[in-house]
Amino acid sequence: MDYEALGELLFPHITKTPDYFEEKYPPRQLGEGARVTRFSPSPTGFLHIGGLFGALTDVMTAKSTGGVSYLRIEDTDKKREVEDGVSAIINGLEAFGLSFDEGVTGMGTEKGAYGPYTQSLRAEVYQTVAKSLVKKGLAYPCFCTADELTAMREQQEKEGTAIWGYFGKWAKCRDLTYDEIKEKIDAGQPFVLRFRADGREDGKIILDDVIRGKIEMPENIIDEVLLKSNGIPTYHFAHVCDDHFMRTTHVIRGDEWIASVPKHIALFKACGYKPPKYAHTPVVMKIDEADGGKRKFSKRKDPEAAVSYFVENGFPKESVTEYLLTLLNSNFEDWRRANPKADIFTFPFNLKKMSPSGCLFDMLKLKDISKNVISVMTAEEVYGNIIEWAEKYDGQLYRLFSENPEYAKNILNIDRENAKPRKDISRWAEVKDYIAYFYDELYAPDYTLPENIAADDAKAILEKYAAIYDINDSKDEWFAKIKEMCEPLGFTPNVKEYKKNPEAYKGHVGDISTVIRIAVTSRTNTPDLYMILKLLGKDKVVERINLTIENLKYN
Ligand code: GLU
Repeated sequence: MDYEALGELLFPHITKTPDYFEEKYPPRQLGEGARVTRFSPSPTGFLHIGGLFGALTDVMTAKSTGGVSYLRIEDTDKKREVEDGVSAIINGLEAFGLSFDEGVTGMGTEKGAYGPYTQSLRAEVYQTVAKSLVKKGLAYPCFCTADELTAMREQQEKEGTAIWGYFGKWAKCRDLTYDEIKEKIDAGQPFVLRFRADGREDGKIILDDVIRGKIEMPENIIDEVLLKSNGIPTYHFAHVCDDHFMRTTHVIRGDEWIASVPKHIALFKACGYKPPKYAHTPVVMKIDEADGGKRKFSKRKDPEAAVSYFVENGFPKESVTEYLLTLLNSNFEDWRRANPKADIFTFPFNLKKMSPSGCLFDMLKLKDISKNVISVMTAEEVYGNIIEWAEKYDGQLYRLFSENPEYAKNILNIDRENAKPRKDISRWAEVKDYIAYFYDELYAPDYTLPENIAADDAKAILEKYAAIYDINDSKDEWFAKIKEMCEPLGFTPNVKEYKKNPEAYKGHVGDISTVIRIAVTSRTNTPDLYMILKLLGKDKVVERINLTIENLKYN
C-alpha cells in the first residue's frame, strides 16, 4: 500500500504537516515543576458542581506550581451542545472567582498563544495529524455503515467475544487496497478515519495516575474512530492533539475516562508525542434524602447539581470555593486555621492529597463554613453583598436595604466586627427572615410564650418594662434595670441561684429578657437585645410592647 498516496487521496485539502504546528505551538518556557492544566468542558447547558470541582482543581494545580491553566471548549459533539452553553460555563466559573490564564474568555473571544481554544475551530490541526498518521500507515478509512456496525455488535454479542468493537477479524476495512478505497471515495461514499491499533490482546500497560497511583490495564486493540465522517474528531483524538499542541502537562479529568487511557496512550505513541501525566478525580456524590445512600448528583432531582443554585441562593463565592477545597485537600482546614485571612489561591494545593474514592458533598458543612466566612465580613461588606444579590433575586429586600443603608448596616453590625461574631447567616437568601422584625413590612408578630412563662407574668413584665424603659440608657444601665425588675415580679436576677432553688422563683433574669425579646421581635433567639431595642427606636418598642400585652394568649 502506498500510504503517502492514501494520505493525499483522503486529505487533498490539507497542505500543512504536523511540523508546522510544532513550531507554531512551541514547548512552554516555564519554571521547574510548573504544571499546565486545562479545564475542558462541553457546552451542554450549565456548569455542574462536579465541573466547578474540576475547574478549581485545575486552577489550584497551576497556581500552586507557577504554571498555566486554560479553558478549552470541547464542542465536537454538536448534538449535545446548547446555544448559551459557553456563556453558562464562563459565567458559572466567574461567579466563583475562577478565571484562567489562557483560553476562551467569552462568546467568540479568547486569549493566549496556543489557540484557537475551541475544538470546532481546530479542524485543520486534527486533520493534519490525521493525514500524517495515514501516511505512516497508522490510520485508515472505514466505510462501514451504521447498520453494518450494529450487525457486527450483535454478532459479537452472540459469539460472546470478550472485547467488543472494531478489531481483528471484525475490522473489515482495515486491509482494503488503495484501489478499493479510491473506488469508494470516487463513488462519494462517506468514511470515518480509524486508528490502526497495534496492541496485543494479552498486552498490559501501566497507568501511573497522580491521584490513584499505578493501575495495570489491558493494551488497546480497538481500531478507534479518530475522525467522524464530517472530519470532526472524536474526544479521544482531539484530546491527544490538543493536549499535545497546547502543551498540557497534567490532564485532570473525571474518573469516567480511566478506561480510555490505553487508547490515549496508544494514540500519543502513534503520533510520536509524550503523553501527559493523568490525574483522574473522584466523582462528587451526595447522600440521598430518601434512602440515606451515597449517589451521584442528578440534574433532574438535585437543584444544587447546577452551580447557579449556589448563586441564586446567595452563598458567597468564597464559601463555596472554601468548602470545595476542604473536599479536595484534607489539609486545607488546618491551613485555613493557621492562615485565617489568606487568599485561597495561596494554599499549597497538592493533587497527591486528593482522595481517590468518591467525595461526599455535605450541604450542612457548606453552610457551617459559609457562616464562618460571613461572620468575619464587616457590616459594610455584608451589606454590599446583600445588595448585589438582592438586586437580582429579591426586589423587596433590595428596596428596604437601599432606602435606608445606614439602618441596614447598623442591623447587620449587631454582634459583628468583634472577637466572637455571631454565626447566624449562611447565605443571603436567609437574610430577609433574619432581619424581618426590623421592618414592619416584613414583621409577622407571634405572641406565643415559652411554656415556662405564664401570660399574667409576661404582662406584668412588659408593663413594668414599658414604665422604666429609656432609650438613652447605656447597656449597663439597661441591664441593671432589667435585673432590678426581677425580684418585685417574683423572679431572681441570679441564674445560679435559680438553678439551685427553682421552686422559690417564677424564673430568672433570662426569662425577663425573653419576654421583652418576644414582645419586640416575636423570637426567642436573636442577636443582642439591647442593640435591637436601640435600633427599633422608642416608638416602635412601645407600640410592640402594647400590642403584645393586648394579644397575649392566656394559658
Ligand atoms: N469535554 C470532556 C467532558 O466534558 C472533558 C474531559 C476532559 O477533561 O478531558 O467530559
